Formats: sequence, structure tokens, C-alpha cells
Amino acid sequence: MHDPEFQLTVLGSRGSMAVGGAQYAVFGGSTSCYWIRAGEENIFLDAGNGLLHAPTDFPRTPVILLSHLHLDHILGLGMYPRFSAPGKETLLYVPVRQGENARALLDHLYSVPYWPLSLADYTGDLRILPLSFPLRVGEVQVDGIEGNHPGGCKAMRLRFRGKCMVYLSDYEHDAAQFPAMADFAQGADLLLYDGQFTPEAYAQKTGHGHSTAEAGIALMEKCGARRLLIVHHDPQSTDRILRARESQINREDVTFAREGMVIVL
Ligand SMILES: [Zn+2]
Ligand SMILES: [Zn+2]
Repeated sequence: MHDPEFQLTVLGSRGSMAVGGAQYAVFGGSTSCYWIRAGEENIFLDAGNGLLHAPTDFPRTPVILLSHLHLDHILGLGMYPRFSAPGKETLLYVPVRQGENARALLDHLYSVPYWPLSLADYTGDLRILPLSFPLRVGEVQVDGIEGNHPGGCKAMRLRFRGKCMVYLSDYEHDAAQFPAMADFAQGADLLLYDGQFTPEAYAQKTGHGHSTAEAGIALMEKCGARRLLIVHHDPQSTDRILRARESQINREDVTFAREGMVIVL
């Protein structure tokens, strides 16, 4: 009856901009969207166009948690078929600052002339809510802290039946924040980490709000995470480049996310 599994499916892990073509066939071109199944609960971390690969029927109301509102993280909202299915409820949690309205924030993009209709006009039962922590989704405990990224971005930690997953995408490593972030990610079974840049590219792009796999490994070692999944691949990083980076790192506990990959905790 109960499915006890805590599992992650990568629906999209491209950063900044969707890409397509044969050179992206292995790691994929869809932007950030991660599908978490925890027993009967279904939680999506971010809603890039990877959301279009998500199923639309669930035993319980699914929940979408947005880390922040950069376009690559909300690109899939406009075309997710569930939002147009009458009677199907979805909870969409949006990070807001004081005085901001969650729905109005999304209307900046999803309204004429940028898009033909507002998300409020979709015929499904979409509930847009402000994101705050701690948040409970059935048995899943979700906590969050602000990470170092232009305009802000929520780092999120999901706990379910003794297992822990941490989502740290759109994050630039920061010496001052390192101890707090290591505390937050302490003992994670799986750490998703923004490794958009090589150390060489990072030297040119400091302050852009993204990190490196090497900085992810440093955090992993500090916080004792069991497995590191590198996400938010640069649009310029073809399969050849990502494979080369992965084999250069050459650790069993470090993987570069591939669209469609499933990790069971
Ligand atoms: Zn992003
Ligand atoms: Zn971002």
C-alpha cells in the first residue's frame, strides 16, 4: 500500500538556458526540475522545462517548490498539462520577500504580452502560495535557508523516514557562509550541488552566482554527505565536456546529473 521509497528523478538539470541537439543527448537540455517521490508524496524542486517530462497523475496533491524565480526555474510552468486539467489540485510554493505577492510575482512573466495568459487562467486547480520554512508535506520535513546567489535562492533540505536530501542549486560558494551551509547539509544522503563552472571558468565568472564541482566536494567532505550530484550544467557544457569533468574527478560518490536518472535513497 505504502511505497516507502525516497527517490529522486532528474527531469532537467541544465542551468541558465535550455539547450538541444545531439551534443546534449546524454546529460540533457531541459532546465532545472527534480521530481522527489517520498512514499505517496510527490514534490518537485523547481519548474524549469524539465517539468514537461513529469507525470500528471498522483495519489495525493503534488507540491512544487521554487528555489527562486530565475527564468530557467519557472520555464516549465506555462506548459505543464496538469495545470489545465479541471479538478486537479497542485500546490506551487513561491519564495517571496516581505510585501510581495506570490501570484503577482509569477504574473510578471505569465501575462500578456510575454505569455498569452496568466497562471490564474489555467483550468486546473493551481494554488499559488508563499514559500516559508519549515514546511511539512505529509511525512516530508522541508527546511530552507538563503544561499549566495544574485537576488537570492533557497537552499532546501528534505527529510523523510531518516533519509536526507539537500538541494543547493544556483549557489555560489562563499567562505563566510561555508560553515553555515555545511551545518545545513550535515549528514545528507544526497547533496545536489551547483557545479556550473569549471574552476577556470569560475575565475572569470566570480559573482555570477554559480559554483564548481570542486567546491561541492569541499562542502560534501565538510558536511559528511554520502553522495554528491552535480547539477545546473552550463549551456556550453556538451556531453563531451561533462563526461571529461566527471572522469577527471573520478570519484564513485560524485556524479554529474543526467536527465532521466533516478536515485533511490
Ligand atoms: Zn538557474
Ligand atoms: Zn538563478
